[in-house]
Amino acid sequence: MSELKLCQGTKCHTYHTQDRLKGQQGNKTYQTRRRSSFYYGNGNFCSLNCQNDWFNDLGDRAINHFGRLTEIKHLTEDNAWQKTHDWNSNDETVYVYVNQITNERRTITEQQYDDRNYTLNTT
Ligand SMILES: [Zn+2]
Repeated sequence: MSELKLCQGTKCHTYHTQDRLKGQQGNKTYQTRRRSSFYYGNGNFCSLNCQNDWFNDLGDRAINHFGRLTEIKHLTEDNAWQKTHDWNSNDETVYVYVNQITNERRTITEQQYDDRNYTLNTT
């Protein structure tokens, strides 16, 4: 059994829905949602609403903590690689990196495609 996760929304428990109302009869409270998985915010939020609540309450602090962008970024050949996939003539999935500037295409493995840390971008 996978462990249940709590929605990280800062106001999740304040929304009056039947599924949030829990506890013993006569002593029920609205509670933070708990699920085996969530669809929003990289699996951290039960709804877009909760994701937005979190960002409105904590987003500025998170950006300042991890580093606020202070200079304009430029798309160049060195950082224009994007992962995508195609189908070959046998209808098999082919994973490729496409450079958005040069249109160069390089085949990559499914493992490289799925690896969030794998990149051809150097800047
Ligand atoms: Zn929530």
